[in-house]
Amino acid sequence: MTTILPGSTIGFLGGGQLARMAALAARAMGFEVHVLDPDPDCPAAAIASHVVTARYDDIAAATAFARTCDVITLDIEQVATESIAAASVHAPVHPGAAPIHIIQDRGRQKAWLQQHGFPVAPFRIAHAPHEVEQAWQVLGRSIAKTTSGGYDGRGQARIRSVHDLPAASALTESATVVVEQWIELAGELSVMVARSSTGEVRTFPVSWNHHDNGVLAWAMTPAPVSDTTTEAAIALASSIAAQLGIVGLLAVELFVTMDDTLMVNELAPRPHNTFHATERACLTSQFEQQVRAVCGLPLGSTALLSAGAIVNLLGDLWPTSGEQPAWNRALEVNGVRLHLYGKKVAKPGRKMGHLSAVGPTPEAARDAVLDAFSRLLPQ
Ligand code: ATP
Ligand code: MG
Repeated sequence: MTTILPGSTIGFLGGGQLARMAALAARAMGFEVHVLDPDPDCPAAAIASHVVTARYDDIAAATAFARTCDVITLDIEQVATESIAAASVHAPVHPGAAPIHIIQDRGRQKAWLQQHGFPVAPFRIAHAPHEVEQAWQVLGRSIAKTTSGGYDGRGQARIRSVHDLPAASALTESATVVVEQWIELAGELSVMVARSSTGEVRTFPVSWNHHDNGVLAWAMTPAPVSDTTTEAAIALASSIAAQLGIVGLLAVELFVTMDDTLMVNELAPRPHNTFHATERACLTSQFEQQVRAVCGLPLGSTALLSAGAIVNLLGDLWPTSGEQPAWNRALEVNGVRLHLYGKKVAKPGRKMGHLSAVGPTPEAARDAVLDAFSRLLPQ
């Protein structure tokens, strides 16, 4: 396996905020950055020296793009595996088409996890309204999720009673649906595993995550759970990454149930929103680690420098007048940093940026970002 050295070109399939932050890390190390994205104004475009505007299923564009890159990685798992396979002819793509194929379809991903003995919430696949109803009769309170195209809680409908069935069934009009039993949660964790093309493996300290309405609101690290739970979470995620044969990053989202057992919620083969604080809290950020992993460079130490936290800045915060939120008020909070992704249009629910802080404890870091966040809300 050849090492890809600084001066070489890293290509990103997908140019969202994750690629933007990884591209910044790559640029800091002296790599060139190329990006392929359907949107010419995507967040990573500002960091790239070459931007290809193409759909993720444009095989010819992926092929031409790969010819300009020394190694390719992903910002999003919705890139067509045909594009990944075509690109792989010209440059290594990490993670490759095989794990992406499994992960990019929620139903296939859950089936794979179950077949490989990993704990997941009970689920059924539904193609039509009557199958959603049958699944609900078996599972009870549940949540319907489209198998593809959903993120940040989109393409999902909760089924608490028979009255929710029409909305959940409507999801089958556009996609196959996974109906998943609703789990009473004691909390949510995520684990980030990095595996390099040389076989080296490192995990980051575990993150504790708080969602509002199915969207991540804030995350803090290290997760305030027992050593046993932390070790079990890391062992679970490492085993999944190894069995999928991931090169690059794999984030594993986990549910902690009321009786303190772990269930896998979902997988993400790329940097993850819950690890943005690694830029400040760890010796190596998730973004630099992605670069190192896909280039076959030694993985960086993931040791904690201090506890850290982030809070997401969704488009809802932007005044409808088109003005900016009151950043100066948030930045009054000592040690809080502002990260914006350069998205030109703010829409409700859209991830526009985040605030980060470090502190002596995860709770102190979280309280600092939440304090700064509260200052952005209408007074
Ligand atoms: P994201 O892109 O933000 O990770 P997503 O759209 O892929 O989200 P999920 O991760 O499946 O969606 O669900 C989002 C959140 O909704 C979970 O983190 C959890 O808080 C809640 N949730 C999802 N499924 C369940 C469930 N079966 N039981 C309880 N809560 C759930
Ligand atoms: Mg999720």
